[in-house]
Amino acid sequence: MILSLKILIFSTLIIVGYYFFYSEYIKLNNYEFTENKGNQLFDDVNINIKNFETTKQKDNKKNYANTHETDVSYDKIEIIVSKGDTFLSILKEFNISEKKSFEIISEIEKLFDLRKLKVKNKIFFYVNTKNSIKKIEFNKNINEKLIVSVNSNSVEIENKILKKTSYQTSKDFNINNSLYSDGLKNNLPPDILIKLIRLFSFDLDFQRDIKKNTLVSVSYEFDQINDNDKLEYKDILYALISINGNKLEYFKFLTNDGFIDYFNKDGKNVKKSILKTPLDGARLSSNFGMRKHPILGYNKMHKGVDFAAPTGTPIYAGGNGVIEYIGNNGGYGKYIRIRHNNEYKTAYGHMSGFKKGLSKGARVNQGEIIGYVGSTGRSTGPHLHYEIIFQNKQINPLKLKLPSGKVLKGDELSKFQREAKRIYADHLNQLYE
Ligand SMILES: [Zn+2]
Repeated sequence: MILSLKILIFSTLIIVGYYFFYSEYIKLNNYEFTENKGNQLFDDVNINIKNFETTKQKDNKKNYANTHETDVSYDKIEIIVSKGDTFLSILKEFNISEKKSFEIISEIEKLFDLRKLKVKNKIFFYVNTKNSIKKIEFNKNINEKLIVSVNSNSVEIENKILKKTSYQTSKDFNINNSLYSDGLKNNLPPDILIKLIRLFSFDLDFQRDIKKNTLVSVSYEFDQINDNDKLEYKDILYALISINGNKLEYFKFLTNDGFIDYFNKDGKNVKKSILKTPLDGARLSSNFGMRKHPILGYNKMHKGVDFAAPTGTPIYAGGNGVIEYIGNNGGYGKYIRIRHNNEYKTAYGHMSGFKKGLSKGARVNQGEIIGYVGSTGRSTGPHLHYEIIFQNKQINPLKLKLPSGKVLKGDELSKFQREAKRIYADHLNQLYE
């Protein structure tokens, strides 16, 4: 870190020397340096350019090149945070008074907790020929950037929301080993692969059902943050898994009651309405039925199933529905109950915390994170106590005969079919264009 700074300062001095003689030339060089960023996108995410050319651009204002907010008369210095660095120790590498340093830090702290700065984070400093800081820029998170302007008698800070461009793209591949590993080999982002697995997990046992040469075809949306080229993956629009000619396919659709859901060509929500296991990687630790209660010590009916999982493991909503209870609930500890329809509810106990922003009356979609495994209430260790309630009585989730999902009818069905046709046409366009 110190060595690289020395190199930077040394090269800055050389540039300063050149500046007097070849000022215009250096300006040109700087300009090219900031322009250079465009292609990084492809290296970072390992998407090959050919695939990218087939992506559809929704926003015509898109521009891969960096924007020119940089005043070319300042030198731009990139500092990569190393272990042991603090913001103050980084500032000390520049020509700056202690008073000014603290002024800058206190301004930043109003909008960003500097302790959250991580190793490998990048901070950009714009300095004049005396190595005095004129401007500091760094990303607060994937969507926001802080810009600190340092003037002789003031420090100003701006929180800039970064502009995004939305895209959609399509890929297809054959499975030779597993959906996940072959997906990665074919440059599908892990975020999309996880969604794909979750989408088909109601129909397929990925260990047993997937045969060699299973075809997977998928279309999905993503945003690119224009300023830093980072990508954010969004929803799957269309997905097909074809095993020996047996096709399973889903189209994304926003239903009239406001849920984003997936339907087959006929408008049937092939998804079953309630998950039997609303978390990943959990082990069933206590079944439904009579048992000696681990804390109370006497025989008692266990009206749910327990899944042992580490504290903090995300818990998913077992089905689409509305939260009817969220908060502390006696022996259940931190507890959520979701009403799915007239007959079915699910309940979740002993949670360590709830997903931020959830409250009573909120709508949740199946598979959406609602909270995290914990050990609150009457509990001997981190686990999820899960109940499925049918006509106000707890039933054994593992013996649940799943009710069929929603079927679209009338106007909603016509709307879905138009939408599905468009999604499919776009998908083929992107694959074969
Ligand atoms: Zn339990």
